[in-house]
Amino acid sequence: MAEKTSGSRIPGFYNLTLNQRLSELAQRGELSTEDVAALSGRSGLTAEQADHMIENVVGLHALPLGIALNFIVNGREVLVPMAIEEPSVVAGASFMAKLARAGGGFTAQSDPPEMIGQVQLLCISNLPAAQQAILDHKAQLLADVSELDPVLKRLGGGPRDLEVRVIEESPIGPFLVVHLIYDVRDAMGANAVNTAVEHLAPRLESITSGKAHLRILSNLADRRLARAQCTISLGQLAFGEYSAEDVRDGIISAWAFAATDPYRAATHNKGIMNGVDPVVIATGNDWRAIEAGAHAYAARSGRYTSLSTWGQDGQGNLVGSLEMPMAVGIIGGATQVHPVARASLKLMGVNSAAQLAEIIVSVGLAQNLAALRALATEGIQRGHMTLHARQVAIAAGAQGELIERLAAQLVVEKIVRVDRAKEILDEWNKQK
Ligand code: NAD
Repeated sequence: MAEKTSGSRIPGFYNLTLNQRLSELAQRGELSTEDVAALSGRSGLTAEQADHMIENVVGLHALPLGIALNFIVNGREVLVPMAIEEPSVVAGASFMAKLARAGGGFTAQSDPPEMIGQVQLLCISNLPAAQQAILDHKAQLLADVSELDPVLKRLGGGPRDLEVRVIEESPIGPFLVVHLIYDVRDAMGANAVNTAVEHLAPRLESITSGKAHLRILSNLADRRLARAQCTISLGQLAFGEYSAEDVRDGIISAWAFAATDPYRAATHNKGIMNGVDPVVIATGNDWRAIEAGAHAYAARSGRYTSLSTWGQDGQGNLVGSLEMPMAVGIIGGATQVHPVARASLKLMGVNSAAQLAEIIVSVGLAQNLAALRALATEGIQRGHMTLHARQVAIAAGAQGELIERLAAQLVVEKIVRVDRAKEILDEWNKQK
């Protein structure tokens, strides 16, 4: 068994068997037998449950679920569940979280859970007058919408503000857009917001004599940003033949590339999403919504750029930060329907959407660092190849202990391709 330690640091976790890892989690995360069974894939979502979630269900699609270790977010130790098919991500996030621990881990903050619902208003001849008329009725419109969701109202959520934008130029000419700012508390909020803007639309029509066209949430949730920061002390950065200063400066130069070039920024942000999406998926949240928000936010200046920044402090330590929209919930959608999502939320011990958002941006920042550190030094393939080779071995048909043996052979040959893996398997079979 792993050496006994508290919190999110479990030395030797990767050396345990699957069952041993689960008993470790059961002890640490105060998980029930059902939660552990859900995380292990022994129970989890059933086809019958899935049949009620989407249309035309024929089965389930599984992903590996790994646990990222070593995370401290706002002083709290947290074990992070990650659902992802790509090798190296869980290990990379865990390793960077370990480096960050020396500096206290990650600090993170999040905005109030305010989402934006949009109503497009067409067929209005005097746009400024219509804009003013809506603003004149603001208090009444907000009061009206606030009665819609008694649960949100009781919890202190609901409508916060109404904004009116004039779109001056478009392929169909000018039109108005109304933004309803809506506090969705611990939900992701799309359904709540969509209900609210659909309710608002006829009232906007009668105030403006226009025609309400689209009524839908915006995924550019730029009033619901989450931010994470970390400091990696210089002493943590040296490894192999690389000095700490070289690693730090290499990471900062790599970031400067992403900050200035959209071709690099796309891949840099993909690396951030390698950390973000697996936690979003594990917790049953809508990762398309998070992806859409992230990339729209990265392009907010008119030029697509990095979501993170890297630099150094007065002592020469590496400092990183990440800011992005983070519309996730711990209630609603699939978060309480999917058994793995429920167990994942429990494992992290989160009791608000804000807390979850803060963990997710911290993992995004850790994953960003993992990629930059590798890219700025030995390159991404060296660490990645061993893990990738296992997938290639499985794809070539290897089973049981042959998977590791074949993967090792591919790495030695430096040819990590399915065709070569099949050849080796054939040779081994002939030798039998
Ligand atoms: P939901 O409607 O299932 O749950 C939200 C509701 O839960 C609230 O309206 C409230 O009545 C209730 N509630 C109970 N306790 C609450 C608490 N503590 N905090 C907040 N609400 C509480 O879900 P949702 O979050 O409104 O919508 C999320 C779903 O919408 C996701 O499945 C998403 O995929 C989907 N969706 C997304 C888009 C988009 O992103 N553009 C569009 C449509 C639908």
